[in-house]
Amino acid sequence: MVPQQTYLVMHDVYLAQIKHKSDRLMNYFLISFFITGVLLALFYDTWLVAIGVGSLSLLAYYSTRFFLPGSNVYQYIVSAVFAIFMAQFIYQMHGLFEMHFIAFVGSAILITYQNWKLQIPLAAVVMVHHATFGYLQYIGYDKIYFTQLDYMTLQTFIIHGALATVIFFICGLWAFQLKKLNERQIEQNFEMGRFQEEQLQKKVLLQSNQELKKSNKELDRFVYSVSHDLRAPLSSMLGVVGLCEMGTLDPLMQKNVTLLKSSIKKLDGFIMDILDYSRNSRLDVDRQEIHFTDLLADIAGNLKFMGADDQRKVDIRTSIRNGVAFYSDKSRIGIILNNLISNSIRYQNPQAAEPWVEVSVEVSESAANIRVRDNGIGIDRENQTKVFNMFYRVSSQSIGSGLGLYIVKETVEKLHGAIELQSEPGKGSEFKIHLPNLAQPAN
Ligand code: ADP
Repeated sequence: MVPQQTYLVMHDVYLAQIKHKSDRLMNYFLISFFITGVLLALFYDTWLVAIGVGSLSLLAYYSTRFFLPGSNVYQYIVSAVFAIFMAQFIYQMHGLFEMHFIAFVGSAILITYQNWKLQIPLAAVVMVHHATFGYLQYIGYDKIYFTQLDYMTLQTFIIHGALATVIFFICGLWAFQLKKLNERQIEQNFEMGRFQEEQLQKKVLLQSNQELKKSNKELDRFVYSVSHDLRAPLSSMLGVVGLCEMGTLDPLMQKNVTLLKSSIKKLDGFIMDILDYSRNSRLDVDRQEIHFTDLLADIAGNLKFMGADDQRKVDIRTSIRNGVAFYSDKSRIGIILNNLISNSIRYQNPQAAEPWVEVSVEVSESAANIRVRDNGIGIDRENQTKVFNMFYRVSSQSIGSGLGLYIVKETVEKLHGAIELQSEPGKGSEFKIHLPNLAQPAN
């Protein structure tokens, strides 16, 4: 359930509880008022008023509550009923003025519903009763038993009215404040619950993250050692194939040996990709001074894929400008360049007069900008972002695992750098890499 819904449910449950409790309270008060009326009838012989008015009031209240249980109209009725009981008692006691206090008792009882508007019917009936009966008595009508006080002037009426208004206002204000206070309490409880739940979720997430990291590390170690171990038999196989090539073979055998050799090389390339991938995620970023000239010479001598045997040799041109020392992770930069140069060799354009790849490096105090440009087959616009995806190959004829550029991108990101590709089919590709100079150890 979304939090807002949960909050609303909590709020509704709370309102239902208040309503239920207050309704029960009203039963007790209304029955007590009715019994009080009956007891007063014993002394003042006002049975008709006690039973008649009392039971009509109860009937009005309970029938509304019964027929309209969903609405709160019956709460407004009970408010008016309290005022009527007050008038009834005043009348029954032949104008005992102090019976006005019953209205104030009713006003206080109504606070329990936490709705200030419930004060309105009570106040209205009291005012109308007070004004009408007071006036009637004032003009000399003596059958109404309004008050035993022997004075009732406009000034007295205004004072009574003002005092009653203050009481109704205070009770209304309390009802309102109680409601606000409780709503704030629900909100706080809700926030607290949500906070606790969030903390719990964070803890669970942290735990499962740690477990995931642990099992990822184990998996990585396993992949690394398996890949590593697989390369040894491949090297022996390549050795045996080499020996076979030295002997005299019939053309079919020669073809098979060549095929076997290229398959072994392909498999070796896959394994190297997996090893690079595993190394990149497993090892922390190292920091040493990079001499690009030496590094590129190393890479050129150790390229991952040397290309198919029927491919032409690619001219590797380098241009390095580094006036300042550049620090970064040497083996990771090796992985990046090895993959990019190998691709330029493999995806050479048969149409081009002479295939070449140009590696240029410009080092500044803050960064190294590396460009690997070739005149190969190029990559169309649609595939230019996809080639960085894991296992993505532009066509089924692509010679590789589809992991190379993914590893390049991951490695560049690990070194906090950025990579960009520009390419035109039939003309060539250019990979631009921006790597920060880690001259100062990263904090
Ligand atoms: P693969 O191991 O298949 O070469 P990569 O991730 O290195 O995988 O490259 C993904 C795809 O991008 C390749 O299949 C190839 O089609 C294309 N590609 C990569 N480098 C070049 C390039 N220099 N020139 C043309 N196409 C390239």
